Amino acid sequence: MFDINNPVEKSISAALHTKRFPHAVIFEGSGVEERMALAKKTACALVCSSGGIVPCGVCQNCKKAMADSHADILIYSVEDKPKAFKVDIVREIRSKAYIVPNEADRKVFILENSHTMGVEGQNAILKILEEPPTYVNFILLCSSKSGFLPTVLSRSAVYNLGEAYSSGNDDLPREKVLAAASGIAKAVTAMSDIEIVKAASVFEKDQKLLRAALPVIQEIFAAALRIKYSAADGDEEFGEIPSELSSKLTRRSLLELIEASDSLMNSLKLNANHNLMVTAVCTKLRSIRR
Ligand SMILES: [Zn+2]
Repeated sequence: MFDINNPVEKSISAALHTKRFPHAVIFEGSGVEERMALAKKTACALVCSSGGIVPCGVCQNCKKAMADSHADILIYSVEDKPKAFKVDIVREIRSKAYIVPNEADRKVFILENSHTMGVEGQNAILKILEEPPTYVNFILLCSSKSGFLPTVLSRSAVYNLGEAYSSGNDDLPREKVLAAASGIAKAVTAMSDIEIVKAASVFEKDQKLLRAALPVIQEIFAAALRIKYSAADGDEEFGEIPSELSSKLTRRSLLELIEASDSLMNSLKLNANHNLMVTAVCTKLRSIRR
């Protein structure tokens, strides 16, 4: 099961439940073992045949995945040194990707130290990232995404494990982050465009606050969704906000908000223009609930 107290795992779990988990994801940062453990958990969730919360841990697919013996989860590990991920391995992966899965509905490729692919290897993987077979997922693991070509990055959703797994959230007090995130969530609940813009104005000169608040905003939406699924009584830290959100918004809108937070977090990693980001936050949140 995913640890919903961990922002990265929570957002992966939310994406899986929308059934729109990206075909290609990059897990960067943290340590080799942590990355692989999360990749295996994600792969398990992708092949899981339970209709509910994934991974269920009890179906045949989960059991095999947890025993590292699932035929549709293919793991490629190389050393962390330049060009260790050879183009020949990429070609092999490509040809295997076109063979339909054996047992599950999906086929998952986990590529450790994939940042060591040279340009040739990356261009080879790009071909399949551009038009992946519908049943295929790629989980690319690396210490840093900086080794990837922009073309590869543009086809992948990046999850940074380093930031999320290190608990020292810079020097921002949790109350400040919480207040900013709650402000946004309240404005969404109020269904007021002006309130959203007002709430987002705290981020205008504070990029760090936005970076810290986005995962918390997503946590609030996720808490509201869990109430919708009647899986939880809300989250003390967020007070009444999640239950208010869950009473005013549909499941669909909440899922869209969770996804929107995801894509905002991803653009935040790629986009250096802070003012554009603040505008994007407002635009995204305003567009959803209609
Ligand atoms: Zn399962």
